[in-house]
Amino acid sequence: MFQEYDVIVVGAGHAGCEAAAAAASMGSKTLLVTMNMNTIAQMSCNPAMGGVAKGQIVREIDALGGMSGIVSDKSMIQFRMLNRSKGPAMWSPRTQNDRMRFSEEWRLALERTPNLDFWQEMVKEILVENGKAVGVKTALGLDIRAKAVVLTNGTFLNGKIHIGEKNFGGGRTAEKSATGLTEQLITLGFEAGRMKTGTPPRVDGRSLDYSKMEEQPGDAAPGKFSYSDTQPLQKQISCWITYTNDTVHKELQKGFEKSPMFQGRIKGLGPRYCPSIEDKINRFAERDRHQIFVEPEGWNTVEIYVNGFSTSLPEDVQYKALTRIPGFEKAKMFRPGYAIEYDFFPPTQLSLSLETQLIQNLYFAGQINGTTGYEEAACQGLMAGINAHQKVHGKDPFILKRSDAYIGVLIDDLVSKGTQEPYRMFTSRAEYRILLRQDNADIRLTELGHSIGLASDERNDKVLAKKRDVEALTNELNKTKLEPDMINEGLEGLQTSAIREKVAASHLLKRPQIDVASLKSINADLEKLLNKYSIEVQEQAEINIKYDSYIEREEQLVQKLGNLENFKIRTDFDYDRVKALSSEAREKLKRIKPETVGQASRISGVSPADVSVLTIYMGK
Ligand code: FAD
Repeated sequence: MFQEYDVIVVGAGHAGCEAAAAAASMGSKTLLVTMNMNTIAQMSCNPAMGGVAKGQIVREIDALGGMSGIVSDKSMIQFRMLNRSKGPAMWSPRTQNDRMRFSEEWRLALERTPNLDFWQEMVKEILVENGKAVGVKTALGLDIRAKAVVLTNGTFLNGKIHIGEKNFGGGRTAEKSATGLTEQLITLGFEAGRMKTGTPPRVDGRSLDYSKMEEQPGDAAPGKFSYSDTQPLQKQISCWITYTNDTVHKELQKGFEKSPMFQGRIKGLGPRYCPSIEDKINRFAERDRHQIFVEPEGWNTVEIYVNGFSTSLPEDVQYKALTRIPGFEKAKMFRPGYAIEYDFFPPTQLSLSLETQLIQNLYFAGQINGTTGYEEAACQGLMAGINAHQKVHGKDPFILKRSDAYIGVLIDDLVSKGTQEPYRMFTSRAEYRILLRQDNADIRLTELGHSIGLASDERNDKVLAKKRDVEALTNELNKTKLEPDMINEGLEGLQTSAIREKVAASHLLKRPQIDVASLKSINADLEKLLNKYSIEVQEQAEINIKYDSYIEREEQLVQKLGNLENFKIRTDFDYDRVKALSSEAREKLKRIKPETVGQASRISGVSPADVSVLTIYMGK
């Protein structure tokens, strides 16, 4: 019934969709096996993509040739660039999405992808021969063979849902959990753990009183994620903000004795930075209110996502507490919030290509690796799909360095350090965040995506043209010298000290108060010169000029540390021969098998002294 595939991807969540799209687009005969084809790319929690650090990841996925940016653009109902008041390293695009359309757009995209087949069923086992994955066995007992397998099971592995004192098996609300795989993987020698996450109730938007809330509209000039020709929104839907209060907290506290979290029925570790509402009022007892974002679920639905009110308290307690929130007095609840516990596999068992160290040609991506979030899952899926394709075609693994992309930071963190709690991306995790901005993801990554056959020729040509234009505009701004009188007159009203001598237009851009728009007000020739170039090119040139010294400093740092990154360690390297290593370092190095000395240096327990010993031993 089935041909032998190059790649089988198990699970059609955010990781699985990217993995399948990437492997198939690059030319691998690919099969996507998932438990329910009606829930492809389901947004299990909030209907939103991007945000701080996550928005950068979506742009990186897009720049490499992945699909999440395009799908988000096509299904967005609101766009905001977060942190605009801070430096460009912090600017983070975020979309509110139509949940159903997001899922539909992904399915359409996958159905249009050549080389991609679908099969709806639960995978129970990985077929393994001579230490290599060679396919999967399904619940119906079918053996489907492939040269590589990518597992992206999300929150489904032995998933257990908790609402108050009730609990039952499930991978997500109204969906079955996946059984069999964890048990087999443990038999094969993998270590597994347990984590938890939670989601808030959903309510009927018609039952809310928005006059008691603050409106949060989208940006006046909305942007988008994809560098391709997707279109920004002409019309947007607003979100709303309200707050909990003491009465809400008291209602919630009444349910604490039935809380699965406080009563110890939930064993898995949850995301510390995304706590449930009961956790917030318990941990931050001094705070008399917490913010609630009231987020529409789409263009054509009245359903509302109550962001900030994640809970696993009994449903009647949830309901009563909700109705004490200003604007929610007459709220009708559609679905209660719940918590879910699931199995994950500590990611230190992977190599940087996301292939498992134990079983060749088996890849893990997404929440199964202990991460949380659609963006974190999607980028791992993309990288696992690419690497599965590379492997079965005898090509080198495709690895992004920490200085290339947030994706590189994420995978390096997971593989080198592991994670004790659901891992999400923050800008603070990236040491080169001035280089890893959302505006330059295409310049950083599209040529790389093109070199492996994922980003199209058209995309690559566009980036090369953009690079040329940015350089040309920067040169022209350096060459254009302006008289002080003309500058001072043109910039009148701006809080910037007067210019006393003839200076280059680029020199002015280094002042914090002056941007491209203010340059245009100096004279018509300058305005004409700038307008010859696209908005993106103008913005890129401005950032490059304004932050020149910071960018240069980080580039020098990358070069300095690059020596360690380029210094490869063979996977069969015998650490026992290096007597001067500390025993903790030796034990960690043997287990994690870092691929470079740079990676070794980031493993906790490997000290700078151990790194020197290693480099000396290897003759450097
Ligand atoms: P998923 O999106 O879970 O997709 C897994 C896919 O695999 C599904 O399609 C499933 O049907 C399929 N599958 C699983 N096992 C098998 C099998 N054996 N055979 C065939 N198919 C299989 N993230 C946040 O950032 N913040 C939050 O607050 C948050 N809260 C959450 C609350 C809940 C209740 C849930 C369920 C998730 C929450 N998440 C949250 C996490 C977010 O949904 C995930 O990070 C993201 O969806 C993970 O993507 P994934 O592709 O790894 O897995």
